[in-house]
Amino acid sequence: MIIHIGIDDTDSPNGMCTTYLGALLYRELSRLAEPLDLPRLIRLNPNIPYKTRGNGAVAMSFEAEEELIPDIKNTVLFYVSQLADFEHENTHPGVVFLEGEIPEELRAFSLKALREHVTIEEAERAAENAGAEYFKFKLGRGIIGSLAAIGYPLERFTYELLAYREPENWGKPRGVNLESVFLADVWAYPFSYDNVDPQKGTVLITPHGKDPVLVGIRGIEGARVLQVFEMVEFEEPVAFYQLYKTNQNTDDHLVPKKIGELKLYDSAVVRGKVASPYWERGRHVFFELEDDTGRIRVAAFEPTKRFRNYVRKLLPGDEIIAAGGVKEHEGVLTLNLEKFYPVKLVPKIEYEKPKCPRCGGTMKSKGDYFKCKRCDFKMPKELTPIEVPRDLERKIYEVPPDARKHLSRPLVLPGGEDRLLEALSKSPPEDSRVLPGFLSGGHGRRSPDVP
Ligand code: ATP
Repeated sequence: MIIHIGIDDTDSPNGMCTTYLGALLYRELSRLAEPLDLPRLIRLNPNIPYKTRGNGAVAMSFEAEEELIPDIKNTVLFYVSQLADFEHENTHPGVVFLEGEIPEELRAFSLKALREHVTIEEAERAAENAGAEYFKFKLGRGIIGSLAAIGYPLERFTYELLAYREPENWGKPRGVNLESVFLADVWAYPFSYDNVDPQKGTVLITPHGKDPVLVGIRGIEGARVLQVFEMVEFEEPVAFYQLYKTNQNTDDHLVPKKIGELKLYDSAVVRGKVASPYWERGRHVFFELEDDTGRIRVAAFEPTKRFRNYVRKLLPGDEIIAAGGVKEHEGVLTLNLEKFYPVKLVPKIEYEKPKCPRCGGTMKSKGDYFKCKRCDFKMPKELTPIEVPRDLERKIYEVPPDARKHLSRPLVLPGGEDRLLEALSKSPPEDSRVLPGFLSGGHGRRSPDVP
């Protein structure tokens, strides 16, 4: 008998982590039953407000003797009841069990939880229709993520190895030798990625909170991720570790949409024209984007750091493809930019003083006329329009690694451009000269030998 288990919403900013609970359970349940695969870490809609950090839920599947099923369920419920952070007002754990095959309709529910907002009642109905059993603790909002993680069609996936700390070290600075991370990264990049930010010189595998995670190492090859883990030197004991299969860095959340269709909490790819000059508030950079169905405010927030410089180079009239999440910012629906591609750029015109038509000398402004500094020639004050180069390349721009959503695919990985290119191929630019070739590139290093 196959049993699928989903758990979610067990943690809070004060501690715990659903992956930690999942990893403990996976070890414990593997004594009772045969795991069908690695446990799965499924990231759901990154824009919903209830998330603690990255809106992750955990699922795992086992082949078990029928008489052991009650033991398995009791073990899961016992672990959740003992370890979830019930004290925190925003922690509402949920556990789901599903026996047998995963019904097709459940996949649709999972994709809705990835891309839109769903209610607890919807999750209850979907669980009942799928013949799944659910357990709610407090409000039990976690059943949304638990059910979605079970039904998630993990067609594209990456890996993350999570190593955990001994409880006595939770909340203390993490003991990881930073130099060893840089060395391991040189060897493994880009098959294992996001280990370091080379531009800032920082290590990215260590979280900063009070949670039990010591490091998270990501990659597109499980073996490479394990080798990076072996190469990193730890200055505190590793309690245990677990390799997860995950939908992180797949871009699964992005759906092509028209601007007029965008709703709160959507994640989408849109194509439109820049409809305003950019403006800044509190170090965030904003502009308006429109298509034939509507207009939306687009934001590159402060944490996206140097990415904002590229956004500042956009001009009204530029045609771009933009990918991001829809959130409300100061009461206004706002597309929170993850990547953009300039499809067609308007000419950038600057106005210069003309040279003296008589001697070629420099003209000086004098009231409403120009006067040559060298020969005193006078002429009406008319500036000369000059087309200056646009310093935006024809490539996809992405936010830096530490501002990237878990689901967003870095450009260094194969397929990192696909979602934006799909939008391009649906309606190619009228003037083919504007797109002589397709280039991509982000902030990080790129390797020519990525398969
Ligand atoms: P961590 O990443 O550390 O596990 P988290 O960021 O996953 O924490 P949770 O504590 O799990 O945050 O809270 C997210 C909550 O949102 C869960 O209760 C989950 O069931 C719920 N949820 C997930 N996706 C959606 C969605 N699309 N609509 C509404 N609620 C959702």
